[in-house]
Amino acid sequence: MADEWRRYLAQQLELGGSEVVLSRAVEWNSGRMDGGTDAQLAGESVAPVDAPASNPETVQPSIHPPVREPGAWRKGAPPIPGPGLVVTSPEPTLSNDLNSLSLEQIAERIRTTYCCALCPNRTNAVPGEGNPNARLMLIGEGPGATEDAKGRPFVGQAGSLLNGILEAIEVPRDSVYITNIVKCRPPQNRKPLPDEIAACIPYLHRQLELIRPKVIITLGGTAGEAMLGVRKSLGELRGKVHTYNGIPLVVTYHPAALLRNPNWKKPTWDDVRIARQLLDS
Ligand code: URA
Repeated sequence: MADEWRRYLAQQLELGGSEVVLSRAVEWNSGRMDGGTDAQLAGESVAPVDAPASNPETVQPSIHPPVREPGAWRKGAPPIPGPGLVVTSPEPTLSNDLNSLSLEQIAERIRTTYCCALCPNRTNAVPGEGNPNARLMLIGEGPGATEDAKGRPFVGQAGSLLNGILEAIEVPRDSVYITNIVKCRPPQNRKPLPDEIAACIPYLHRQLELIRPKVIITLGGTAGEAMLGVRKSLGELRGKVHTYNGIPLVVTYHPAALLRNPNWKKPTWDDVRIARQLLDS
């Protein structure tokens, strides 16, 4: 099977298809975040009705992976919800010495200094990556094992799922900026502690100041809370458009949580489509 197909099928499985059956027409949309039924979005088996009854895997596709119709993400997208919290950049960021550094200098500073107890145990710091002029910025919690090994954000399993989500809303990964609240991996992927967040977040504030995206998406409760400076559940933070320094901020589930619980894919799909509409607005 061509590599392209292998990659496509792996991605479809990550997006929720628990079983992939190839049919002649390749009409199935296993695990598609868009246009699929709730059952599909919830990760149930998605064999097409016309799938061959026996040994379907012997049917080898001879065409390229299905192409999503442009704008398909709009179908059934929820309206943009009302306003949530309004946060302005904390003063310390403006007065500390990061204020004069460029994006590359910030990354270099992160890679070459220790700011909290996480730093000495890292293989690589993960400053973030992407388009310095990104219109969309995604903020996760902290690097996992793969990210620590590679020094890049969201390049493990959760990253593959995030790539699929971005693709589904027609936002190329290389057009966005992706980073985390803390830039070094917490042991056993535990949540970063408040003092670790406090030590690291000035880097993020400066990154935001430099990139000044049109829209921010925070992935998971920790990132949402840290950006908004509150202690609230993800449920309380979702479903509103918050504002960070005048920039609309949408809180959604962390992709790693979706891998554990596919029922959260549908609400995540709604959240990212809200963010996508904000990008267009
Ligand atoms: N989880 C995160 O929060 N960030 C990453 O970069 C990878 C996994």
